[in-house]
Amino acid sequence: MRIVKFGGTSVGSAYHIKKLVNLIDVNKRTLFVFSAIGGITNMLADFIYQSKLGEKEICQHTFLRIREIHFRVITELFSSKNYKQIAESKVEESLKLLSYYSNHRITEKAEKEILVQGELISCSIIYLYMLEHEMDVAYIPALRFMFTDKYKEPNYLKITEKLTKELSKYNGCKLFITNGYICQNYKRQTDNLNRGGSDYTATIIGNVLRASIIEIWTDIDGLQNNDPRYVENTFPIRNLSYEEASELAYFGAKILHPLCIIPAQRAKIPIALKNTMSPDDQGTTISEYAISKGIKAIAVKDGITAIKVKSARMMQAYGFLRRIFEVFEKFKTPVDMLTTSEISVAMTIDNNAYLEPIITELCNLGEVEIDQNQSIICIVGNFNDNRNISIQSITDGLGNIPVHMISFGASKINISFLIDTTNKIEALNLLNQHIFRHHLCSINIQ
Ligand code: ADP
Ligand code: ASP
Ligand code: MG
Repeated sequence: MRIVKFGGTSVGSAYHIKKLVNLIDVNKRTLFVFSAIGGITNMLADFIYQSKLGEKEICQHTFLRIREIHFRVITELFSSKNYKQIAESKVEESLKLLSYYSNHRITEKAEKEILVQGELISCSIIYLYMLEHEMDVAYIPALRFMFTDKYKEPNYLKITEKLTKELSKYNGCKLFITNGYICQNYKRQTDNLNRGGSDYTATIIGNVLRASIIEIWTDIDGLQNNDPRYVENTFPIRNLSYEEASELAYFGAKILHPLCIIPAQRAKIPIALKNTMSPDDQGTTISEYAISKGIKAIAVKDGITAIKVKSARMMQAYGFLRRIFEVFEKFKTPVDMLTTSEISVAMTIDNNAYLEPIITELCNLGEVEIDQNQSIICIVGNFNDNRNISIQSITDGLGNIPVHMISFGASKINISFLIDTTNKIEALNLLNQHIFRHHLCSINIQ
């Protein structure tokens, strides 16, 4: 079985949907994972925000905009009146929830249900379009098999059992469709795998079904050497190891959900990143066979808060770090970067939901300093190969940009810097010039 995921841009218009359906090889057993139409999940999140503020008119406006986008796709997509009507009624059905919550107080349960409507609608539309084209395809809603546990981790045993059962209902069928992003949590409520979660859906399914390949189709020719949103003339990296791809995804390469490499890596399934708009481009392959040489890519993660705890009590004491980390554990807040000196510890977090209680508790352990609006720049490559790469040769590239923390050594594939977000674009461009026009990258350029 192949797992093929199409992201928001790839299903973003009738033109795109026609194009992707054209790419389908009906003879290969394939399970397709579809995201919501590009921009819809953002609009659903806006709707929730506006509804909470009681902005009824703006809510109504957002609701109508979401409806209009889907109706336009349907009008341009279907040739038969019958399929068009069924598709329209699916949209109306899904949007009933929004219509209701334009005027009522929104609940937490409703928020989660609203967020997944984009994937429910896009899959219904594409499924109907494939049926209109007489393709033999089965639609298996993700809510029937994608279960998470109380830690929000995939419940692999249950997913395997349920998905296998669902697939067995369609003997002889080669094409299957499911929703990206959507899951059922341990309370049996509708939930999601966090923003960008359709990639994760694809790799979890790939793991469970021991797929031969997981293809992730998006709007760019594979994973680029730098963030194309901030740097011009980036180029695709043709091969990446799972470890390299994981670091890049975790530290901000938006093309991949931060956790989506893990399930593929565990089952040693290659991931191909492909461009729907130029399907013949080689894209990027992530596998255990990638050769790690030189520097591969740079990524950036925003929204970082640095927390420094300073205490003379730390000097030659044991158990101090444990007490600090217990605070983060208590508030279920992961730490990304960490550096220590004899009397202080500096850490970064990317989730400020519990920042206040964390600070309050850390104040019992020492003097606490906070810096917000920080970014982590992560450079990924093979730093084992230090005959060619010295740390200085990289730091030189940052020019005069102030660096607040450096992390290196825990893995030989990543060096990370913490800088002010205001310096991010300059830092990415300076490093790009320095690293990729320099001997450090010569092995990467194809
Ligand atoms: P999809 O909707 O298909 O899931 P995403 O928007 O989530 O697409 O991911 C693709 C986008 O990721 C690209 O258009 C690009 O702007 C952004 N991106 C950020 N870093 C990278 C990178 N290193 N390589 C490729 N794309 C990147
Ligand atoms: N539609 C969801 C989002 O925009 C999931 C995804 O596209 O991967 O985050
Ligand atoms: Mg994405």
